[in-house]
Amino acid sequence: MNPGLVGMIFVFVDELSTGQTCSICLVAMRNPVQTMCGHRFCESCLLGTFREGHAQVCPQDRNPIPEDGGFFRDVAWERDILSLRVKCKKSGRGCDWTGQLTSLRGTLYLMRI
Ligand SMILES: [Zn+2]
Ligand SMILES: [Zn+2]
Repeated sequence: MNPGLVGMIFVFVDELSTGQTCSICLVAMRNPVQTMCGHRFCESCLLGTFREGHAQVCPQDRNPIPEDGGFFRDVAWERDILSLRVKCKKSGRGCDWTGQLTSLRGTLYLMRI
């Protein structure tokens, strides 16, 4: 699996707390969702663990996830992650941009990082 395709990879200025890192792709969550059992993942990471014809379970503790309404977009969590300050990945190559993730949001979706 290539984590770069799912989560967000930046050099974080503010430290990510453990819960803000997706346990599947191991980087900052993108479009975080929270399951009924209280675990959070990137939406696409969670969906990626579901298999056709198999009961949906939480990848963390194998708790069943109902087909409809078993998880929801955690907007407040997403806002927290997006308010973290990051540095440009190219900072080693002379780009000294630093800003909140939220200011990058439009770009992120376009680039599908
Ligand atoms: Zn993820
Ligand atoms: Zn769980």
